[in-house]
Amino acid sequence: MTSDQVDKNVGYDPGSFDVPPIFRSTPQPFQMLKWFLFKFMWYQSILWIFISFICYRYFTPELSNFVRLEIEPLFLIWLRNVSIMLLIVGGQHWYLYSKKRQGSDFKYDSRWLAKKRHSFTFNDQTKDNMFWSLTSGCGIAALYEVAMFYLHANAYIGRVDSIIPTVLTTVSLFWLSSIHFYANHRLLHVKPLYEVVHSVHHRNVNTGPWSGISMHPFEHLIYFSLPLFFIFIPASPFLVTFSLIYLLLAPSPSHSGFHRYRFGKKDIPAADYFHYLHHKYFDCNYGTILFPLDKWFDTFHDGSEQAHTKIIQKRMLRGNIN
Ligand SMILES: [Zn+2]
Ligand SMILES: [Zn+2]
Repeated sequence: MTSDQVDKNVGYDPGSFDVPPIFRSTPQPFQMLKWFLFKFMWYQSILWIFISFICYRYFTPELSNFVRLEIEPLFLIWLRNVSIMLLIVGGQHWYLYSKKRQGSDFKYDSRWLAKKRHSFTFNDQTKDNMFWSLTSGCGIAALYEVAMFYLHANAYIGRVDSIIPTVLTTVSLFWLSSIHFYANHRLLHVKPLYEVVHSVHHRNVNTGPWSGISMHPFEHLIYFSLPLFFIFIPASPFLVTFSLIYLLLAPSPSHSGFHRYRFGKKDIPAADYFHYLHHKYFDCNYGTILFPLDKWFDTFHDGSEQAHTKIIQKRMLRGNIN
């Protein structure tokens, strides 16, 4: 890629990629099923479902505690969110950035995370990212969970608990989340909202695990609104916890900056190159690769030299050559 000459910070380049097989010019349903099961679900999505189940079953107050809106269950859910973030997100940061266990292997950007930079709260990227994630991020996610549990506890919304609808809704949520994220993310790139709100997340060009949900509180309000769909779609209260735990944790490997995690001689998939390119170029890849709305709205960057050239040409046409 010519950005080798342009961008001196370039590190590992995984090469270009395509949309999922069902969305290609010749749709491939069988390949799509394989892609969905073995690339999308395994292993990260399965892990988020498993962690959400453990959180819901063992670390979330019983539904009867939410009949009235009270501070204690809200505090307990916030504490649960903070604990799981420290464990899962903090664990990745510790392995990759504190101990540098795999050095720069598979790292997209050759730089390490910023210290003594005034654009970050506390002049430090990691402290900034942890602060916004653990206070506003975990707090607003807890508020949504309490509000939804209040509606469930009082039977103000529909509920379906049997196993097959719960599994189907859990899998469908990944698609719904992809559309929800694209829509709210495009909105956040409209100028006044971008400057006041979304720029807090985009301070992170070279991202780390804690950058995932390092956002302005207003962005958290929009980003974590996904479970509100369950006001209209009858589902198990587990789906509320799952949607929020998924939104809290999934961005941590995807923003980790490392394409793969190495453990001894083995390595496993980690970051999302698609979203890394959004942080790098800013005006492409607003959604997720699962449901490629970017392809249809002509904002898709596949990591190739042609996509890079196209984005520069589009900027020149708009009169913005930065
Ligand atoms: Zn953005
Ligand atoms: Zn991001």
